[in-house]
Amino acid sequence: MKPLLNYIGGSFVPADSDTTLENLNPATNEVMTTIPRSSSTDVNKATVAAINAEGAWKATTLEERILWLDRIADALEAKAEQIAQLETMDTGKPISLSRRVDAARSVSNFRFFANFAREQEPMEFEAHGAINYVHRSPVGCVGLITPWNLPLYLLTWKVAPALLMGNTIVAKPSEMTPMTANLLAETLDELNFPAGVFNLVHGLGPEVGQAIVEHPNIKAISFTGGTATGRIVAATAAPMFKKLSLELGGKNATILLDDAPVDDIVDDLVRASFTNSGQVCLCGSRVLIPHSMYDEVSAKFVEGVERLKIGNPLDDDTQMGAVISLAHLEKVESYIKLGIQEGGILLTGGTKEHASVSGVHPDGAFLRPTVLGGLPHTARTATEEIFGPVVTLHAYKNEDEAIMMANCTDYGLAGSVWTADIQRGRAFAERLETGIVWVNTWLNRDLRTPFGGVKQSGVGREGGTWSMGFFSEMTNVCVKQP
Ligand code: NAD
Repeated sequence: MKPLLNYIGGSFVPADSDTTLENLNPATNEVMTTIPRSSSTDVNKATVAAINAEGAWKATTLEERILWLDRIADALEAKAEQIAQLETMDTGKPISLSRRVDAARSVSNFRFFANFAREQEPMEFEAHGAINYVHRSPVGCVGLITPWNLPLYLLTWKVAPALLMGNTIVAKPSEMTPMTANLLAETLDELNFPAGVFNLVHGLGPEVGQAIVEHPNIKAISFTGGTATGRIVAATAAPMFKKLSLELGGKNATILLDDAPVDDIVDDLVRASFTNSGQVCLCGSRVLIPHSMYDEVSAKFVEGVERLKIGNPLDDDTQMGAVISLAHLEKVESYIKLGIQEGGILLTGGTKEHASVSGVHPDGAFLRPTVLGGLPHTARTATEEIFGPVVTLHAYKNEDEAIMMANCTDYGLAGSVWTADIQRGRAFAERLETGIVWVNTWLNRDLRTPFGGVKQSGVGREGGTWSMGFFSEMTNVCVKQP
């Protein structure tokens, strides 16, 4: 594959330093291509290009920008299979998942924001002999920083509303998954999208991400990634009074109530735990089970996990591929060891997948899906984010204890509750300290809803009006009526 380049001011260019980084396929550990190892110099060039493009882009009407989102959605849809293939090669996730989730959602992010904007009513209020209305202006040049687990899905989730509201962009994808961000830049280029409105700078977080966050002319930062990185981003951006949206880590609980129909839901529980090898920020990594049902649920859950087909991510029937890198595999393995030291019992998995399994490359980052029982709910393995195919099972005595256990981590991103009684599920859900809770479903997303975490899972919300609000400044104009 040809080396990837930055996209600055409508041109594909190498890093100013002319140095590169290798981009590996985690399923084979082979080098697929290189990306520019950019620096603050490249970020500065991208910011200058964005600021030069700002006036003309800001002068477009909302209707014109909506049409651009439609065009981008159509162009990406025509490349859906290419997006899926690139995403699978970059991340090691199964191709069926890349098609169903990554490619589909990258298109629908643009389509959703276009249609959502069409439906908006003007914000106008009449009182005291005056009319107040809200005028929205773009923030200016915004910085978008994204992780490796859902590369184009999460990038477009920010790019679409940022463009819609008239901003220019300096974006940085994860250095581990740069290929679909490059495809987006190529697509915009083919569409003759105005040069400089969207700029892409590849490279390492501390070198490029940090330079974006520090840049005085980048007015807002929308960051999705780990909590530790989010803390650095917040510490840098806060004294500069930048608008800041942080979507961070999680340690989500999957909670079965004592009337949950186990046989009907076991496949959902496995999916909620191991989709993308547990590398979805919304995956449930702790399953809380009533004492009376623990043996039955753990046996059926483990059976379901052992049915998962691990193999070559590019095969249509693979259900679990590789994790993102060998380094990440080592981190996940160290948590499995820690779990056992902390008193956990290995119920299944716990090791690298054997290379004798069909489709598993001997140098790939393949880990067997792992389930640990018997750990205290306060164990590090049960409270720290592992972000891999590792799930812990815990028994609880009553609903109050389940709530206490669910809420006992520093995180508060997502959760799911499983019950035969929807009213009970709703009441339970409302007691969880978390940004999103599903009742009897998982990863069922309506893009109009507020998405984000509480506690150390983030600050702010994305989606629908929240994204439009983040990517705009609002002026209240009050006009006295004659
Ligand atoms: P990460 O924090 O290591 O990296 C995220 C991005 O930040 C990357 O592009 C990275 O290069 C960049 N970065 C690193 N250091 C930086 C710095 N000092 N300044 C600015 N940018 C910097 O996260 P990751 O390992 O890529 O992704 C996994 C994490 O993302 C997990 O914790 C997961 O829970 C989280 N995540 C959260 C959500 C959500 O919506 N809340 C969604 C997906 C992933």
